[in-house]
Amino acid sequence: SATLSVTSEVEKRSFEADEANLLVKELQGVFNSGKTRSYEWRISQLQSIEKMLEEKEKDITQALHEDLAKPYLEAFISEISTTKGSCKHALQELKEWMEPEKVKTSITTYPSTAEIVSEPLGVVLVISTWNFPFLLSLDPVIGAICAGNAVVLKPSEIAPATSSLLVKLFREYLDNSAIRVVEGAVPETTALLEQKWDKILYTGSARVGRIVMAAAAKHLTPVILELGGKCPAVVDSNIDLQVTARRIVTGKWALNSGQACIAVDYIITTKSFAPMLIEALKNGLKECFGENLMESKDMSRIVSKSQFARLVKLLDEDKVSDKIVVGGQRDENKLRIAPTILLDVPQDTEIMKEEIFGPLLPIITVEKLEESYDIIKSKPKPLVAYLFTNNDQLKQDYVQNISSGGMCINDTVIHLTVPGLPFGGVEESGMGSYHGKFSFDGFSHKKSVMYRSFDGDASVRYPPYTPQKQRL
Ligand code: NAD
Repeated sequence: SATLSVTSEVEKRSFEADEANLLVKELQGVFNSGKTRSYEWRISQLQSIEKMLEEKEKDITQALHEDLAKPYLEAFISEISTTKGSCKHALQELKEWMEPEKVKTSITTYPSTAEIVSEPLGVVLVISTWNFPFLLSLDPVIGAICAGNAVVLKPSEIAPATSSLLVKLFREYLDNSAIRVVEGAVPETTALLEQKWDKILYTGSARVGRIVMAAAAKHLTPVILELGGKCPAVVDSNIDLQVTARRIVTGKWALNSGQACIAVDYIITTKSFAPMLIEALKNGLKECFGENLMESKDMSRIVSKSQFARLVKLLDEDKVSDKIVVGGQRDENKLRIAPTILLDVPQDTEIMKEEIFGPLLPIITVEKLEESYDIIKSKPKPLVAYLFTNNDQLKQDYVQNISSGGMCINDTVIHLTVPGLPFGGVEESGMGSYHGKFSFDGFSHKKSVMYRSFDGDASVRYPPYTPQKQRL
């Protein structure tokens, strides 16, 4: 089998380019047989994923707990239930998605009909990340299956328990002649990236996104890049403060301790409102996680020592450490950092330059909220831009003026669950999108097909171009 596990000593060996080449060839053969194209095959795989989610809930949440100390309910809501939703939606809609889309023709082509036919691309690669290691592996795979492709998944080595569970589950539930998992880190991913794929969907950092895109360019392989960035939340004063605080607390800390691409990265609010907002966030934190934030079982830990060290370094920078107004505690042994709020950190610090991806939340104050546009625009375009306000004019302004992958007004994160909305970034936060029909479209080729009849043949279009024809 081309599947190997870096976590199991027995199977530990490196996955090399020739092995990757064989794997792709094998899957191409299966794809060319037409097996993965049928509606029935796609449905059967989706149903198996549904079954797997029902039967292996415990194993999945356990693996997520091992990798990230993810609380059971958080794991269930953000990874299992979301994947289930995605699967259910696909099962309901797939028939319609697969239908050719009729297109109007013109007088020039009369009589004719035309349609757009969605055809599978072939053999596709999904490279996943560690923060939602189950959802962000399965959801793109669901899209690839919906569109009728053969697919290889490369989960993240930084979430090893989930990675090796995915190997087991794929073996048990899915058609392994067309759907595979290859575990591994940089060498294995590099071996995979040397191959010619028909599409690559990559989730992770912009740094590796560039490596993926460069490798894909060699084969003219199209890519979907799901990257990250600094997601701002602009907070007005005319809001329901308690609801806002709860929603920010959930979207920042409850969601994997801020290790989420859609987590609020920093807040911008007015100088006069900041003290009230900080107070409300403190209460929100207490309400969700109790008095001792370092001990809460309702918050995930930091994924690894290196991520922990990176976050501590951001916090300990000269112009940053004296700006802490809430939290700041850390425990290296338990890989835990308390929810931390910082006030008015200068813009030229690392914490305001790089994506935080952890439980640290800087609040930047301005005299007037409109000044927030310049701050947001001085950074690469974010994956999500949040706004909390009751002012309809401001909402419209924000939507018109701020460019981001997506937006959510008066809440955090929840927009992700609407399958009719494309999920993806722009510029540094990514390219292309997926979720719902966007996943199907992302893994399909849109083939334009015209049907002509032999009737109504007009000789005017054929040479010789006589003066008579020119007059027409
Ligand atoms: P990462 O880029 O380090 O790793 C992601 C994947 O790339 C892993 O599978 C890893 O094995 C592989 N990889 C790492 N180095 C590689 C190399 N040199 N060559 C080839 N492959 C390599 O990203 P990360 O640190 O795991 O994730 C954090 C980033 O991901 C953040 O920026 C976050 O915002 C982003 N993210 C985005 C989304 C989204 O849906 N847009 C979701 C989650 C995370």
